[in-house]
Amino acid sequence: MKITIFGSASGIPEKGKAHSCVGVEVGEKMFLLEIGEGASSSIAGDDLDIEKIEKVFISHTHADHFIGLPRFLQYLKWRGRKKDIEIYLPEKHIDAVEKFLPFLYIFRERFEFEYKFLPLPKDELILTENLKIKLFPTSHLKKYRKYSDIYGVETTSYGYLVEEVLNDGIGVKRFLFSSDIDSVGELKNFIEGVDLLLIECAHIGIEDIIEFVSEYNVPKVILTHISPDRDVNFMLEYARAKFDLNIEVAFDGMKIEI
Ligand SMILES: [Zn+2]
Repeated sequence: MKITIFGSASGIPEKGKAHSCVGVEVGEKMFLLEIGEGASSSIAGDDLDIEKIEKVFISHTHADHFIGLPRFLQYLKWRGRKKDIEIYLPEKHIDAVEKFLPFLYIFRERFEFEYKFLPLPKDELILTENLKIKLFPTSHLKKYRKYSDIYGVETTSYGYLVEEVLNDGIGVKRFLFSSDIDSVGELKNFIEGVDLLLIECAHIGIEDIIEFVSEYNVPKVILTHISPDRDVNFMLEYARAKFDLNIEVAFDGMKIEI
């Protein structure tokens, strides 16, 4: 499984960085997790056959995870895409997104491919014969619960666990991406046996992450979504020296193979 970080910025805009977007690639297929602002520019800068992209998952519709969608659809059109694409969104927001796009002059009639909006899967979803994804709920949006009745918005966000069964039919590779969480404890039920953890740092302390991953012996950890005012270098040195952690900071264009 190949992972490409297309967007590593936190919710705060930063020069030269796109917001959340991660590509997961197995064979001839790629799946995008999040499509934040600037994701298309980052994808355009990669040597990627865009026909490979099969599905997009959007854990929640904060702008830094979602607002790259209109530009992404237009980019696919501009690149002459003809293959349909599925976009998974919080169910309650699908209708609003459908109604919003025409006001950006994005009309289905002008596309040579179908873009289909689907609710985020509640159970494991089979992506290819040896790849599956599970979305697990997180409390990242809990502060908005008081608005849910007024505006009808979703108040659960999700993290991602992607599993690939290797060609021998026995070995499994696991990639865990926290997306946005409220505490590291929300990853507890999914961390066992993970080969790569991509974890956000905008809403949780690096100290908490270091303590958590050292307890579970995660072989590789990448920190992403780091606010620009945070200097993590000191903590990284500490994590490497004290716990011998394989820990790095994400950047746009970073590729990791597990
Ligand atoms: Zn975010």
